[in-house]
Amino acid sequence: MVKAIVGANWGDEGKGKITDTLATEADVVVRFQGGANAGHTIKNSYGKFALHTCPSGVFNSNVTNIIGNGVALNIPVLMKEIGDITGRGVPAPKLLISDRAQVVMPYHVKFDEYEEERLKGKSFGSTKSGIAPFYSDKYAKIGIQVSELFDEDYLKEKLENICTLKNTMLVHLYKKEPLDAGELFKICREYADMIRPYVADTSLFLRKALKEGKTVLLEGQLGTMKDTDHGIYPMVTSSSTLAAFGAIGAGIPPYEIKQIIAVSKAYSSAVGAGAFVSEILDEKEAEELRNRGGDGGEYGATTGRPRRVGWYDCVASRYGCALQGATDVALTVLDVLGYLDEIPVCTGYEVDGQVTRDFPTTRTLERAKPVYEKLPGWKCDITGIRKYEELPENCRKYIEFIEKQLGFPITMVSNGPSREDIIYRK
Ligand code: GDP
Repeated sequence: MVKAIVGANWGDEGKGKITDTLATEADVVVRFQGGANAGHTIKNSYGKFALHTCPSGVFNSNVTNIIGNGVALNIPVLMKEIGDITGRGVPAPKLLISDRAQVVMPYHVKFDEYEEERLKGKSFGSTKSGIAPFYSDKYAKIGIQVSELFDEDYLKEKLENICTLKNTMLVHLYKKEPLDAGELFKICREYADMIRPYVADTSLFLRKALKEGKTVLLEGQLGTMKDTDHGIYPMVTSSSTLAAFGAIGAGIPPYEIKQIIAVSKAYSSAVGAGAFVSEILDEKEAEELRNRGGDGGEYGATTGRPRRVGWYDCVASRYGCALQGATDVALTVLDVLGYLDEIPVCTGYEVDGQVTRDFPTTRTLERAKPVYEKLPGWKCDITGIRKYEELPENCRKYIEFIEKQLGFPITMVSNGPSREDIIYRK
């Protein structure tokens, strides 16, 4: 049985925590898209960790963790991450890397930096991890597949061609030093040595696991609003963040995905530029939520950048859940809202004098104004509560109001950063 854990919003919804929690009863956890450009923060008995590339099942020794073919694999980052977690007492994780995953090369990171430099103020707010140049190359068919790292003659020839193409841009557009194919070849050999023990046909592994009745979690990165097709283009990421893509990025049949858990945070946050209708514009009010938010404040797990914060957006979240195909919604970080007397919730967008509940394309979204309803706060700390009925009445009303707006069942409520801080609801 396959369960997908994906973001209904802009990312940072707490997918890592939900995956870590569900991984205690899973056999396999798969990353199927994205790269080291975003992070999951996980808190458990080993401590607090920021993962960028490792699947969130690495803290469960019963779990096989897979880097799927859809991932942008940054090999040094992955190795450092494994070193960091084992260095802090976590048993060496069971890890497999798809032989069809592709490799983020140092020049991808450089191209990301140079392009942001060239665009100056008009940049896309990239984390400069090389993700857009990586996926561009993958689809232009000049990417390097993991399997190709072990085919030296083929690789040498491929790198010559890559250098011819890249150096034209480097020298003439960015005015930088050209790449050297021999240097790149050396890097590729180092990369091959680092990952050799982990490389496998992971699609075959997964098909076998499914036949044996194993439980597989697909772990998404970012959320619907960052999906290349369905998000706030062009302020999106360069791979699909949707559960449907999980089948492609892991190499399994789509009909195997039986449960899709769309993770949605009880308020909104977004990193980088782009339309954000329910953003809190009052800096003092925003600062308060930002500092209380998440676990230790709403600051990027990869970049440390302060996240923009806003009220819960039912329009964006309903769209987010619909595109994910949510069978379940996990509403997270609810505990953080306990300080508020009343809580605004965005229930519609006003566009050119008309109120809509449908999420528009980006140019229209940029003109949208939020329509708010205010709900009473519960004014207490709800962490530690394990039963739904024991939540304060106004807190349950908040959850049920959102559920009605979404039209998707909220079956999990997360009321703290730790694995145990979860309330299951039927
Ligand atoms: P992800 O990328 O979707 O996994 O999200 P991040 O890890 O970037 O951000 C979520 C943040 O919220 C992390 O710091 C988590 O430790 C924290 N977190 C997750 N669930 C909860 C929760 O229910 N309550 C609180 N207070 N923090 C949470």
